[in-house]
Amino acid sequence: MTQMLIRGRLLSFKRAPHSLTDTDSYAYESDGALLIDGNTISVAGSYGTVKAIAPEGVEEIDHRPHLILPGFIDTHLHFPQMQVIASYAANLLEWLNTYTFPEECRFVESEHAARIATHFYDELLRHGTTTAVAYCSVHKTSADAFFAEALKRGMCMVGGKVMMDRNAPQGLLDTPQMGYDETRAVIADWHGKGRCHVAITPRFAITSTPGQMKAAQALAQEFPDLHIQTHLSENHEEIRYTGELYPDARDYTDIYAHYGLLGPKTLLGHAIHLSDREADVLSEAGAVAVHCPTSNLFLGSGLFPMKSLMRREKPVRVAVATDIGGGSSYSMLRTMDEAYKIQQLLGERLNPLESFYLMTRGNAEALSMAERIGTLEPGTDADLVVLNAASTPAMRLRMETVKTLGEELFLLQTMGDDRAVVETYVAGKAMKSEFDVSQVRT
Ligand SMILES: [Zn+2]
Repeated sequence: MTQMLIRGRLLSFKRAPHSLTDTDSYAYESDGALLIDGNTISVAGSYGTVKAIAPEGVEEIDHRPHLILPGFIDTHLHFPQMQVIASYAANLLEWLNTYTFPEECRFVESEHAARIATHFYDELLRHGTTTAVAYCSVHKTSADAFFAEALKRGMCMVGGKVMMDRNAPQGLLDTPQMGYDETRAVIADWHGKGRCHVAITPRFAITSTPGQMKAAQALAQEFPDLHIQTHLSENHEEIRYTGELYPDARDYTDIYAHYGLLGPKTLLGHAIHLSDREADVLSEAGAVAVHCPTSNLFLGSGLFPMKSLMRREKPVRVAVATDIGGGSSYSMLRTMDEAYKIQQLLGERLNPLESFYLMTRGNAEALSMAERIGTLEPGTDADLVVLNAASTPAMRLRMETVKTLGEELFLLQTMGDDRAVVETYVAGKAMKSEFDVSQVRT
């Protein structure tokens, strides 16, 4: 197996940091190295120790003075919405009906789906994201394109064919039976192939009849290890309409609970406007509220009470995500900048250690995947991002006055974007520069 030594400043989290001074929550090596053995990290530590263990003449890549972190993880975005980003709409439902649904109809064409898939993975890698959890469209063709490209690039990806059988254009509807059958077919074709993971994906309660919810429930019972993803309590009008469609439910969360869709592998996009009762239910189920700050601000959906959900007596698990194309940036750095500002507006503090924990190990834990991704621990997959906090003239100037790691991370989060990403490694392969996008396209 090919071995390679990657040198630079290493940062990897061991657990969630309690404060900006919680130095026990992470491992940092100012002159560190990773020994990569094929697809995985075999040794991590100071350059001196790793070099001593490494075989003589091993290939060395020197990323000093840049930071090396586990690749970013994006826990909620929509693969068929690359050409929906930056659509001018008053709110969620107008945005869906006017732009998003018509655009997703195009993914019935496998050629279109395949073309967008190449751009999708190019963008993720340019932004340092090595794992993402995506909604495909209702069409199996879209899931096929999504996973085929993931497999080609060796990426750890979670995705699902969306189930939706009402309140959308005809070209975007399945039926309870079709949604069930095609999800099963996607699982059979892709789950466990390479690093592909299939998620059961009812879009949200508005676009699924009770019959389809039952079909999703049947899938969840048959495949208890799979992730389940859907949307919850994003927007007031959405919540009101959902209540009308499910008059017997106590609240929005109760709909998903009723159909057995809440568990530790359930990812609930947004979950902004929850009652105490709903937060308790999510906490007890171990389900994850996925915060999508750029999307929440862009669509004017509301301010996600991340900190108060996390410190409740019954805390709610939280992950962070871009929500492309309601979100306005592919960058997890931009995402955490907006997350920070939302907490500021709520009178809360989100410190940069927490932000970088959330983008890496935190999101891996939310996916129950921290054994494989999200850290630089030996034995895990060598998915890495290399970051340069002096990547623009303005950042370089600000870096002159930066004295601590926390300050550097905060600068990266506040001013950084894809330009700060020097390199992205997937399973030990450099994908941003060396494995050029043009090669991928052939
Ligand atoms: Zn979404």
